[in-house]
Amino acid sequence: MPHDLPKSYDPATIEDHWAEYWVREKLFAQPTPDSASHATLGREAAARLDGQSDRQSPFTILLPPPNVTGNLHMGHMFEHTESDILMRWRRMSGDRVLWVPGTDHAGIATQMLVERQIVSEGATRQQMGREAFVERVWKWREHYGGAILNQMKRLGASVDWQREYFTMDENLSVAVREAFVRLHEQNLIYRGAYIVNWCPRCQTAISDLEVFHEEQSGHLWEIRYPVLGADGKDSGKFLSVATTRPETMLGDVAVAIHPEDERYLSLHGKKLRLPLMNREIPIVLDEWVSRDFGTGAVKVTPAHDPNDFALAERHHLPSINIMDDTGHINAAGGPYTGLDRYAARKRVVADLEEQGLLAGIKDHVNNVGHCDRCKTVVEPRLSTQWFIKIQPLADKAKAAVREKHIRFTPEMYEKTYFEWMENIHDWCISRQLWWGHRIPAWHCSECRKITVARIDPTACAHCGSAKLTQETDVLDTWFSAGLLPVSVFGWPKITPETRADFDAFYPTSLLVTGFDILFFWVARMIMFGCWFAGDVPMPDGSKRTLADSVPFREVYIHALVRDANREKMSKTKGNVLDPIEIVQQYGTDAVRFTLASMASPGTDIAFNIARTEGYSAFANKIWNAARFLFMNVDRAAEVGIVVDPASLPLLPMVGNDAPLEDRWIIAEFHSTASKVNRSLAIYRFDDAANTIYQFFWGSFCDWYLEIVKLRLDFSGIIDKVSTEAALTTLLSVFEASLRLLSPFMPFLTEELWHAVYGDNLPKKSIALMSYPPINSIHLRAQIDMEMLQGIISDIRALRKDVGVEEKETVSIKIHSYEFVVADKLEVFTNNCDIIQRLAKVSKIEFSELPLSGPNIRSSFGVDVQVLYERTVDVAAERDRLTKEIAKYEKGLISAERQLGNEGFLAKAPAHIVDGLKKQAAETGMLLAKAMVALDELPKQ
Ligand SMILES: [Zn+2]
Ligand SMILES: [Zn+2]
Repeated sequence: MPHDLPKSYDPATIEDHWAEYWVREKLFAQPTPDSASHATLGREAAARLDGQSDRQSPFTILLPPPNVTGNLHMGHMFEHTESDILMRWRRMSGDRVLWVPGTDHAGIATQMLVERQIVSEGATRQQMGREAFVERVWKWREHYGGAILNQMKRLGASVDWQREYFTMDENLSVAVREAFVRLHEQNLIYRGAYIVNWCPRCQTAISDLEVFHEEQSGHLWEIRYPVLGADGKDSGKFLSVATTRPETMLGDVAVAIHPEDERYLSLHGKKLRLPLMNREIPIVLDEWVSRDFGTGAVKVTPAHDPNDFALAERHHLPSINIMDDTGHINAAGGPYTGLDRYAARKRVVADLEEQGLLAGIKDHVNNVGHCDRCKTVVEPRLSTQWFIKIQPLADKAKAAVREKHIRFTPEMYEKTYFEWMENIHDWCISRQLWWGHRIPAWHCSECRKITVARIDPTACAHCGSAKLTQETDVLDTWFSAGLLPVSVFGWPKITPETRADFDAFYPTSLLVTGFDILFFWVARMIMFGCWFAGDVPMPDGSKRTLADSVPFREVYIHALVRDANREKMSKTKGNVLDPIEIVQQYGTDAVRFTLASMASPGTDIAFNIARTEGYSAFANKIWNAARFLFMNVDRAAEVGIVVDPASLPLLPMVGNDAPLEDRWIIAEFHSTASKVNRSLAIYRFDDAANTIYQFFWGSFCDWYLEIVKLRLDFSGIIDKVSTEAALTTLLSVFEASLRLLSPFMPFLTEELWHAVYGDNLPKKSIALMSYPPINSIHLRAQIDMEMLQGIISDIRALRKDVGVEEKETVSIKIHSYEFVVADKLEVFTNNCDIIQRLAKVSKIEFSELPLSGPNIRSSFGVDVQVLYERTVDVAAERDRLTKEIAKYEKGLISAERQLGNEGFLAKAPAHIVDGLKKQAAETGMLLAKAMVALDELPKQ
C-alpha cells in the first residue's frame, strides 16, 4: 500500500478540503435522541435497549451567538479554539457532544448598518416606512448575515450545523413572546417614565451596559438665580448653582440645598426666578445635596438627570422634558426651541452673560457617557419605557450560584457576578428601534389601557374596543439572547412529544465566553433559565428543582488576546491582528496551537507571530515524521513485512520483554495522554498543548525515531520479528499521537490519519475515534530510559568539551558504582547499540574500577569517560598561545597601572574600581592557564 503524501506540508490545501468534508458529512451533528421511550422505561432498561448511546453523558454548549453584522476577530478565534478543543476532546472521550451555533439579530448594530446604506443611497428609513425597512434588513441578513459562521466553517469548528439558529427565527420569537407575556402576567413587567440613557443618533434608549464613559475636558458654569422677595419680585440677592450642562436649566423645576447648610439658612422657604425662562421655582431642602460640591446649591432638572429625578419624586416636583428624540430643544424650551443641544448651550451661556447672571466659568473634566454603538454622547432623558421588575429573578439567579448549581472558572468571577447582582436595577427592555422583536402590547385609543397577548388581539381586553395599535418599541436584543438556552431546545412548546431535546440537552454543560458579556448575557441567561425552566418537568415526570433549572452548570470566562507587547488590540492603536490573514499564512492548526499553548484560566495572551512560526515548524515536523514512517512501512512491505493498520491495538502496548525503547515510548505516550486529559479537565490548555509538543518533538522524534532506525534497516534483515515489532509500535504510537493531538490540530491530524489507514478507514474521521485515556504507566521503562538518555547526553556534552568533530566516533569507558543496583548496569550493557548510534561511539568498555583521568562526567551513580586524544598542530598552537600570553600580560600591566593610581581611585565610582579589579584577576588567571598549556606542549 504505497502512501503518497506530498513532500511538503501545505496547510491551505488540506484545510479547505477537510473543512468542507466535515460540514458535508455532517460529522458533528447530534440528532435528537429518541428518549421519549427512555423516560417511561427508566434509564437501565433504556440502556439495555440501545446499548452504548444511552450511557454516554451529554456534553452541550451554546456558541455565544455572534452578531449578524460581525466579522471574525482574534477574540472569536481564541474563544472558538478553546471551545473546539474541549468539544473535540469530549466527543473523542465518549460524551454525547452537542455544540449549537447561531447568530444574534443585534438590534442596534444591524439597524445602524442598514440605515447607513440607505442614507448613502439618498433616502432615510423614515421615508421608507417601518415595514419596507424591516424587509430590507431581512434581505441584508440573508446576504451578509452569515459571515462569521462561514469563517467558523472554514476554521473547522465542530458545531452541529443542522441546529443553526437565528434569534429572530419563528420558534425563538415564540419563546420571546411567551416570556414577555408570562412576566407581564406575573406583574414583573411594567411601563413607566424614567430617566434612561438616550442616544440622539440611534434615537433609542440604551442600557447602562451599552454606555461607555470617557473623560472629556469641559466647563463648570456658575449661574446666579435671583432670589425672590416676599412680594414676588427680585430681592437683589442671588443663589449660585454650578452645572456642566447649562442648557438643561431650561427644564429646572427647583434648586435644592442641604437643610443644615449654614450659608443658606436664610433662604429656607424662599423662591427663585429661573433666568431666561422667567419661571418661579422653589428652593427645596434635601439631605442628598453635598455641601462641599460646587456652591452647595443644586439645580433640579428631573427630566434630564437620574438623581434629580429621584429628588423630584421625593418632593413631588413636576418634570419638564426640554429635548426631543434627536437631541434638539423642544417646545418646552421657550426661545431656544429647535436648537441642537450644543447650539442651545452656547446661546444659553451667551444670554446669561449678557444679563450679568454668569458668575464664573471653570475648566472641568467630565466623565461623559457615550453610546457604545455610534459613540454619540448620550443624554440622560426622561422617557416612557418598558421595564422588568428584576429583583425576584435576580434572587433566584443568586441562589443558583450560591448553592453551587453553577460554577465559575476562574472562580473570581463569582464575586464579580454577586457584586453586580446585589446592585441590580430594573432592566429597561424597550428599544426605540424597528429591527427586533416587537413588544406584544397594544394601546387602546378608547380606554387608553394596554392589552398584552400571546396572539395578536382584535379587541381591547379592557373595554372591547377594536381601536388598537401595537406598541412601536422592540425588545432589547439581550432579552432574546437571555432566553437562548431554554428556547433553542424547544421551550415553551415542550410537550411529551417534543421534549426529547430538552430532556437530553438542558441544562447545558458549559458556557465559554468573555468577561465583557458577563452581565449583558451570562447573568441574564441565569435569571431567565432559573425563572422559566422550572416549569418544565424532569424526564421522569418529577418537578424540576433549581439545580436542574440553571441554563448551564459551568461558566468558563476566557482571557483576552493582546498584541505581542501585551497591549490591548484596538483600531485606534492600529495593532489589531486579523486572524484570517495569519491563518492564510501559517494555517489554522498553527494558529490554534499558538493560542492553546498560551491559554490558561485568567491569563491574557500576548499573541506573538514568532510563536505561530514555531508551531508551523512543529506541524512540519509531524508531517515529516509521517513521511519517514510511511516510507519505512512501504519499504518493509517490499521485503514481505506487512504492517496492517487495521490490526493495530486501540492503544499502543507491548509485552514486558519488548526492547526498552518500545516499552519506554509507550509509557511516555500514556503518561503524556494522562497529563493532557488532566490538564484539559481544568482548562489548562497551555499545559496540555505543551505536553503534547514535548512528547511529539522530544520523545517521539528526537529519541524514539532515532533509536528505532537501528531496527529499520531493510538491506539485510537480521531479525524480521524485531523489525516488524518496531514498525508496529512506531505506527500505533504515531496513530494514537495523532488522536491525542487532533483536538488541537484537527486538519493536519485528519490528513495524516487518513493516510495511515488509506482505504480501510475505521471511521469517517479521526474526530470520531476514541481519545487516549488516563492510563497507568510503565514507570520502570521510563526510569531506565532516563538513565540511557542521561548517559547519551553526557557523552554528547563531553564530545563537545573535548572538541570531537561532528562525524568522528569515539571510544568510551563506563563505571557503575556499587550503590546502584546491579541491574541498572544492564540498561547500558543491553543497549550498547543505542548508545553507539546516538552518541557516535565506536567502542564501549565497562570498568570495574572508578574512572580517573580527564573527560569524565558522573550522573545516576555512573561515570562515563570519553577516550579521545586531540591531535594538535604543535607549532600553530605554540604560536597562538604565545600571542595570547602577550595580550594578557599587556592587559594586566595596564590594569595594575590604573589600580595603582591614587588620583583615579579617589575619583572613580566604586563599581568601576571593583570591575577593574575583577577583570585584572580574571586576566591573571587566563594568563596562568595559557602559560601552563604552553609549558605542556610537546617540545620539538
Ligand atoms: Zn447611538
Ligand atoms: Zn380599551
